[in-house]
Amino acid sequence: MSPLKLKLHWQILIALALAIAVGLAVGRDGLLLGVNVDAGFDFIGELFLNALKMLIVPLIVSSIIIGVAGIGDSENLGRLGGKTIGYYALTSMLAIVVGLVAVNTIQPGVVDGSPQEVFGLHASTAELERDLADKGADDIVAIFLRMIPTNVVQAASSGQMLGLIFFSLLYGFFLTRIANQYAEAQYNFWNGMFEIMMRITDLVMRFAPLGVFALVASTVSATGLAAFGPLAAFFFTVVAALAFHFFFTLPLLLYYLGDVSPLRHYRAVSPAMLTAFSTASSSATLPVTMECVEKNAGVSNKTTSFVLPLGATVNMDGTALYECVAVMFIAQAYGIEMTLATQFIVVVLALLTSIGVAGIPAASLVAISIILSAVGLPLEGIGLILAVDRILDMMRTAVNVASDSCGAVIIAKSEGEEGILENDMPARAA
Ligand code: ASP
Repeated sequence: MSPLKLKLHWQILIALALAIAVGLAVGRDGLLLGVNVDAGFDFIGELFLNALKMLIVPLIVSSIIIGVAGIGDSENLGRLGGKTIGYYALTSMLAIVVGLVAVNTIQPGVVDGSPQEVFGLHASTAELERDLADKGADDIVAIFLRMIPTNVVQAASSGQMLGLIFFSLLYGFFLTRIANQYAEAQYNFWNGMFEIMMRITDLVMRFAPLGVFALVASTVSATGLAAFGPLAAFFFTVVAALAFHFFFTLPLLLYYLGDVSPLRHYRAVSPAMLTAFSTASSSATLPVTMECVEKNAGVSNKTTSFVLPLGATVNMDGTALYECVAVMFIAQAYGIEMTLATQFIVVVLALLTSIGVAGIPAASLVAISIILSAVGLPLEGIGLILAVDRILDMMRTAVNVASDSCGAVIIAKSEGEEGILENDMPARAA
């Protein structure tokens, strides 16, 4: 069989495995047999990412508008909105609790000696502040102030998705309250735009194996495996907690709330999770997530286009968990006692910042800096975790996207939608 006939997720998986092998062979100098292949990987990876990012703004706007307009009256909208927010808050909280228990049990930061020596501080404080400023580090109030943008075009162009989502929600809501002659034209226009975006997504996804290969090979060659040594305990804590959420919490919710086989669901959305892993961006993955949830899992367009664009920005279980573990790890490394009250503040801030930050690579670092300053921990502590942040970013983004997709299925089921992956597990099949 030609490799192009293999299912997309197999193609992506093979690309991933190859990328890890090639990335390790290339190493930090970027050379393979004397040729600078890293530049080539970066070029191809960037092209693929650009193509996905190009779709984000029109996709978010058109899908939320038709999603909200399609729901119709305020009662339905209130119900669906309530369920969506309820699911997002519940899963993020569950994830944070898992992270908190893991970090308090394993205590990866408790070591003898100064944290700089033991963990190898990788960035100077000045450099760090500059990096964070680039990513729009702010306090938490500023993040939520931008929820109502003064200029919606600027919000779209500067990646402030919360503002864009808020505007689109209003637009869709009032679309159903204007005269029919206008409403129909408006609805058709946005629906058409949405359909076109999904077709372009199809096209972009044909290049996913290539894009994934390039992105992952370049990350592996730059990061290598040496950096993991001193941070192994931290790395392990995050991975164990993420794995618990991914393999236990979400499947249990899928099974008991959605009556859906977790295995079949994960198989249906695997291209989205693999894309999330490779791009480390929930927003860039959004087109793929929507396509998988609608086409493979069978969720209606109405639910998909409301729940998923919101989820890509608002629902980040992996991010919330990571923030909590990272802040506690930094406190442990500096030997700072965290009282129960302070840990509670960390939990609340992890939840709020995971809602407020964008679905882009390394967004957690911004959120962590906000939490560190709020609870009075040294900002330079972020330097401790930088070496492993990228790989953990890939993993937490996959968990973020997995949770969004589970939410879409559970909410669709609760709305009585038919034809979604049926539960074939004997215990509840009766
Ligand atoms: N990269 C993550 C996402 O896009 C956010 C983060 O945790 O940094 O979902």
